Amino acid sequence: MNLGLSEEQSAVRRLARDFVEREITPHVVAWDRAEEVDRAIVKKLGEVGFLGLTIDEEYGGSGGDHLAYCLVTEELGRGDSSVRGIVSVSLGLVAKTVAAWGSEEQKRRWLPGLTSGASVGCFGLTEPGTGSDAGNLATRAVRDGDDYVIDGTKTFITNGTWADVVLLFARSTDAPGHKGVSAFLVPADTPGLTRRTIHGKLGLRGQATAELVLEGVRVPASALLGEEGKGFSIAMSALAKGRMSVAAGCVGIAQAALDAAVRYAGEREQFGRTIAHHQLVQELLSDIALDVDAARLLTWRVADLVDRGQPFAVESSKAKLFASEAAVRAANNALQVFGGYGYIDEYPAGKLLRDARVMTLYEGTSQIQKLVIGRALTGVSAF
Ligand code: FAD
Repeated sequence: MNLGLSEEQSAVRRLARDFVEREITPHVVAWDRAEEVDRAIVKKLGEVGFLGLTIDEEYGGSGGDHLAYCLVTEELGRGDSSVRGIVSVSLGLVAKTVAAWGSEEQKRRWLPGLTSGASVGCFGLTEPGTGSDAGNLATRAVRDGDDYVIDGTKTFITNGTWADVVLLFARSTDAPGHKGVSAFLVPADTPGLTRRTIHGKLGLRGQATAELVLEGVRVPASALLGEEGKGFSIAMSALAKGRMSVAAGCVGIAQAALDAAVRYAGEREQFGRTIAHHQLVQELLSDIALDVDAARLLTWRVADLVDRGQPFAVESSKAKLFASEAAVRAANNALQVFGGYGYIDEYPAGKLLRDARVMTLYEGTSQIQKLVIGRALTGVSAF
């Protein structure tokens, strides 16, 4: 693996860094306090091409490889995880899944809007009763003539309130395939679909996380994504790539923690010299730096495997597991460097810690990632 970046990859990283400094950093504290990112950011992300990375230009995408996608995701995560999550879901989980599994008609219908930022996608897998055990979901899609009628409840859905299209997973009654789960592309304005924003989150406060209730939601059979009964495989393949994106976002959090802590350590004076002179502060900084490097290398390895068409799902679980736990450690260590100021939201460490915490929970908790890795090592499924 070549650990250097190509000129194109370096350019895309610079572009992302400038974008974050200009469009995100000045608003981070206000968005977090208001519990809402300015929705105009979606269009701006689309204009600069960040919502179309790795998608064919034919469908409005901006091309690029998965390392470029990870670099952009890292920079967005460094700026604001709430914004990073919009991209990870609308592009990472929805547009990429449509590109991989969709019919020509579905690609032409949904991808230009998702990649330009004119529309937003959300990924509806989790339900109040099924999180880790996602294959056991209760939402039902019943065939009725040329339509399906869907009933159920989805919760914790990122982008849920903003979304124009829901990539929805439901048990379709006559599906003979794996777990009987099918994937549907449901326009969010379909009658019978209602949504409620979930407030009071510890982190990712700027993100529109929602509960979706589906009561007699009628969609044509053409809304089915991929084959009937293949929905669980589609969800798992989407999440395998999604975990790489979460890992990249975590690298961004850890890098932001490092930058902030090093800067502060060089400014703050205690005992007659800057705290950077104190060995135990240097220990905190070096622990953060190690977490940043290790998380980044694991994440880049996944991107490299994806770009070379190699199997990557287990490596993606490893990267997500390590990077999410590393981001929590790094943000917590940075908060320690800031002392009492770390506890106040005018300084970045507290928000980084709040935002990092959920990364060990969603797209498979740390325990679930360990079971994925353990299954690959032993051949035994211990779920
Ligand atoms: P549970 O599955 O109930 O787990 C509870 C605890 O039990 C955890 O510690 C877990 O690790 C442990 N556990 C469960 N099973 C096992 C086992 N077999 N062995 C060992 N330990 C186990 N979902 C979506 O579909 N789309 C989204 O866009 C989305 N966005 C989210 C955004 C946020 C902010 C949050 C908080 C969640 C989001 N989720 C989303 C849901 C998320 O993926 C789930 O919360 C996650 O999968 C865990 O499910 P759960 O919360 O039901 O926990």
